[in-house]
Amino acid sequence: MTTPQLSLYNTLTRTREAFTPLDANNVRMYVCGPTVYDFAHIGNARPVIVFDLLFRLLRHVYGATHVTYARNITDVDDKINARALRDFPDLPLNEAIRRVTEKTEAQFLSDAKALGALDPTIQPRATDNIAEMQALIGSLIQRNHAYNAAGEVLFDVKSMPDYGQLSGRNLEDNLAGARIAVEAHKKNPADFVLWKQSAATEPGWDSPWGRGRPGWHIECSAMSERYLGQTFDIHGGGLDLIFPHHENEIAQSRCAHGTHAMANIWMHNGFLQVEGQKMSKSLGNFVTINQLLRTSKFGGRRWPGSVLRLAMLMTHYREPIDFSTRRLHEAESKLLKWQDFASDRTYRVASRDVFDRFVRILEDDLDTVGAFSYLDRVVKGEDERKGHRAAVNKILKFMGLPGAESKATKIARSLRTMDGLVATLKKSGWSDMFHDLSKGGRFRSGEIKPEAEIVGRLDRLVAAYAAARPKHLALPDDVLSELSLLETATLDPIEAAIAARLEALNNKDFAKADAIRNELSEQGISLMDYKDEQGQRATKWEMKR
Ligand code: AMP
Ligand code: ZN
Repeated sequence: MTTPQLSLYNTLTRTREAFTPLDANNVRMYVCGPTVYDFAHIGNARPVIVFDLLFRLLRHVYGATHVTYARNITDVDDKINARALRDFPDLPLNEAIRRVTEKTEAQFLSDAKALGALDPTIQPRATDNIAEMQALIGSLIQRNHAYNAAGEVLFDVKSMPDYGQLSGRNLEDNLAGARIAVEAHKKNPADFVLWKQSAATEPGWDSPWGRGRPGWHIECSAMSERYLGQTFDIHGGGLDLIFPHHENEIAQSRCAHGTHAMANIWMHNGFLQVEGQKMSKSLGNFVTINQLLRTSKFGGRRWPGSVLRLAMLMTHYREPIDFSTRRLHEAESKLLKWQDFASDRTYRVASRDVFDRFVRILEDDLDTVGAFSYLDRVVKGEDERKGHRAAVNKILKFMGLPGAESKATKIARSLRTMDGLVATLKKSGWSDMFHDLSKGGRFRSGEIKPEAEIVGRLDRLVAAYAAARPKHLALPDDVLSELSLLETATLDPIEAAIAARLEALNNKDFAKADAIRNELSEQGISLMDYKDEQGQRATKWEMKR
């Protein structure tokens, strides 16, 4: 093992610190996970990816079995109740809640996997830790840090002299700045809920303070204590969690245990915006991870999880990201270049130098930008005899990105793509299709080419394909690179299916139309028929939520 040189920026001290674990045999990290009421969006993907990278780095430095990473699932929350009532009004509430949380959790886990994230060591659910939360609340009351008022147990912020250290807010700021509604039952407007009583129509657990449910912050204090101990090494999440969530986690944990720290290092990822604007449903720029991976809602095509992962890591984790199709294209071509370099290797042994140097750069507060520019230099100035290609392969795998492809895999992939492409083209009469695409501006490669040129290029490709396919030969390189362009140029598969269904409807082939609707429905896409301005039948689609 090389001497660890890991340094991390600590929000608590606002400096970069050399990282020294409390116990090098068990390095402990907690990251706030999703509230499972809705599909995770691409902003939520950022902490998943960033802290997965840190997990990988810690495992590399301290040994894979010496790191414990806990990421919780928040499955009790008023947003979940609201969603359950909306989506399953006819079911008993608990059953409805279970439907919402199970489905959303499964979706989140599959999203995280597609993003190349390792499973955290532990993924505790809030609802499995209610007793632990109650114990914590009990000890806060006993130590005079909490009180019971108007059916709520509240944390008394005045009882903690150094409340506000993480966010740098003091109680006076809170009073002056934040519009915290003055609620008569609170001793101080900044006091926050630890436990609140539930109406019969709300989920609840019996407790010394009546049948009720926990506040959000207490969940993480209880779960981190149970799985990582009263004080642990690293606590992470997005920037928006600094206040109030993390501030209040610290207050609860430290006051309940009488400790000086809940976690030694507090890390926060920067925010992600989409094309210059905050993501929001009303602006129509709200993109879920699922949509990006499995539909063509963003940039007109699907994107592999690895491309999203790299697109995220191309910016330092503390910087804001302005997300765009361009960024995804850039990530994709970078990744293909690295993969190609790694694939062509003759030496199997990876250069220790190259790998170690890459890791050293990352150890500087996860400097992915510096590390990738080093990788680019290695790829440019290759020195095969020293095992640079094998090292790049090792680096890609270490980063959770796809590594080298064998020739056979590469050929199989290109032929599969070509098969699909040719099938689509045959189905739709391809010169018409390209005419359409160029006219309607739906050519997906980023620029609209004149029709004749595209058709010419396509002709060459199809000829190359026809020559290579029966013999399972590799396609020439220029054909391959055209192919990757064309991959992005094929018709949006959802739009194509919708067009086929409309055609079937117009031909009164209702069985076929229903079959298409059902197939889309299985992919989580629901269709809505309407009449357009000309009174023609048209169809809109959306992801089922
Ligand atoms: P939430 O489910 O809203 O609590 O968010 C889950 C995680 O995603 C938290 O760590 C948030 O800080 C993080 N997060 C939410 N929105 C964004 C965004 N736009 N950019 C980066 N991180 C985000
Ligand atoms: Zn939390």
